[in-house]
Amino acid sequence: MGEFDIIQHYFNRQKAKQHSVLTIGDDCAVIELAPEQQLAITTDTLAVGTHFFPDVSSYDLAYKSVAVNLSDLAAMGATPKWISLALTLPNIDHQWLADFSNGLFAILEQYNVELIGGDTTKGTLSITITAQGVLEKGKGLYRHKAQVGDLIFVSGSLGDSKAGLELLANQTPSKNSHQDYLLQRHLKPTPRIALGSLLNHYSQCAIDISDGLLADLGHILERSQCGAEINLQNLPLSTPLVTEFSTLAERFALTGGEDYELCFTILPEKEEAFLKAITQLDIKCSCIGRITQSGLTLLRNGEKVELPKQAGFDHFSL
Ligand SMILES: [Mg+2]
Repeated sequence: MGEFDIIQHYFNRQKAKQHSVLTIGDDCAVIELAPEQQLAITTDTLAVGTHFFPDVSSYDLAYKSVAVNLSDLAAMGATPKWISLALTLPNIDHQWLADFSNGLFAILEQYNVELIGGDTTKGTLSITITAQGVLEKGKGLYRHKAQVGDLIFVSGSLGDSKAGLELLANQTPSKNSHQDYLLQRHLKPTPRIALGSLLNHYSQCAIDISDGLLADLGHILERSQCGAEINLQNLPLSTPLVTEFSTLAERFALTGGEDYELCFTILPEKEEAFLKAITQLDIKCSCIGRITQSGLTLLRNGEKVELPKQAGFDHFSL
């Protein structure tokens, strides 16, 4: 089976649904944008050994490869529309490809995203996805837009993915529903697309949490040239995380990566309207602190706490 057959057999499932796609299957996909739209583009690679364990199911691998890209679009406030896929395979394993294709199209259908192109090559397993989304002109959520006095929010709960990774790394078979939940949070993150899109009306600044809250918030602070105060007692920790990893839960929430939740800022005068607006979404958002002039301060019930000594935010000296 050659490259063309693989594409035909495993990756040619969707009928061109979006009117904006003028052609697929030529040398390039051609897309028409509406005059009031901007294009948001992102690329992420998942490489075996670096980003995932070799024994992870190809269904989950495909799902997550798409999810992390859609999460970047969500963090910009963009609505995902199209992806292209570059797949490097050591050999042709039909069961692996069939499961991969099922995982890929499961998440694409879920978020109404279309596969419009790609490439396959032989080599060490790696998956590169480029995702494109649309954004209304003049809108968007940027790392440099935080301002002193803004409230800092995060979506969902933090630290779950790191806990799931620990369970996987220790090869502990899941013993209960809490562990199942943590594993799923690691393997199948939820891109917060509806939230990102709604944030366009209430915020100008967001990032998705891929490297851990402190590291990713650090990117906002660096780009916006400001500081932050975080109230540790307000960190959203899930019941499964606290139950399974009690003493590590807070550290996982601060420094564990791959939660793919959004961290964003809200002007205090927009807080009430924002909290009202998110009741229409099935997601919890927690105010965990505020933007300050400089430095990163962690507080527990008003008392200052030392920063955990870990990479990613070491440019903040207290
Ligand atoms: Mg990101």
